[in-house]
Amino acid sequence: MRILVVLAHPERKSLNAALSQVILDELHVQGHEVRISDLYAMGWKAQIDRDDFPELPDDQPLRIPSASRDAYHTASLTDDVASEQEKLLWADTVIIQFPLWWFTMPAILKGWVDRVFSCGFAYGVGEHNDKHWGDRYGEGVFAGKRAMLVVTTGGWEQHYSARGINGPMEDLLFPINHGILFYAGFEVLPPFVAYRADNLDKAGFQTAADNLRERVRSLALTDPIPYRYQNRGDYEIPTMVLRQDIECEGREGFRIHQASSLQQSS
Ligand code: FAD
Repeated sequence: MRILVVLAHPERKSLNAALSQVILDELHVQGHEVRISDLYAMGWKAQIDRDDFPELPDDQPLRIPSASRDAYHTASLTDDVASEQEKLLWADTVIIQFPLWWFTMPAILKGWVDRVFSCGFAYGVGEHNDKHWGDRYGEGVFAGKRAMLVVTTGGWEQHYSARGINGPMEDLLFPINHGILFYAGFEVLPPFVAYRADNLDKAGFQTAADNLRERVRSLALTDPIPYRYQNRGDYEIPTMVLRQDIECEGREGFRIHQASSLQQSS
């Protein structure tokens, strides 16, 4: 397989860097082709702004969706963005790794998404009619590719359980897994989460590393989260409301967007 690893951590001697090395070593042992985007090491520019669109005339207001679409179609996106898009097109599997910061991804990684998942590439694509509302939620540029999050947290696993005060991890990661990755077409694998990472001792690290190696070994075999496809009849178009006659088996909230329940693994 061709695998892209995207890492968002500022410290080379961090736990995240060590776990990232575990991933890379295991991928090499398995004989995969691997590329890495180590965002801090690359000095990745996090914010999307006017500098992203060098061809935009000075007197034209910056409207990011249209500027982004024009730049994509005229191949005038900046080299750093174009290079990340090329890596994503090259890969058949993408692993995105980060420490949970304020219940989501670090800003540098959000900025990578904002800039690289440009209009005309990852969103704003496909025909809109009464049966098909754009290529999104299971369709789009990344259809047929797989993605998996690898996340570390300070909080305990129980803090992120169904009744835990932080809210379920599945819900916290829904905007990334469903709203970004599945939206742009990826099949999304259940995340790997290393909880209570700030106090990890040597034995805890070994356990996390062993579990992570196992997840890496089974990348091609793991069932994706069974999110519902937008254009296969489950949703009313154009309101995008899940049809009233669809049975959700007692599920509520974000879980209604899964065709059946699937255990999240850690
Ligand atoms: P590090 O600090 O690098 O290491 C953590 C531990 O692992 C240390 O004890 C270290 O000794 C050990 N370790 C490191 N490398 C190795 C190795 N090679 N072998 C063995 N042991 C090793 N947590 C939440 O749960 N929810 C939040 O919303 C949240 N928000 C945050 C916001 C910010 C701005 C910050 C800074 C932290 C936040 N945290 C939160 C905590 C954060 O998720 C953890 O600090 C992070 O996941 C730990 O990962 P790290 O790579 O930074 O760990």
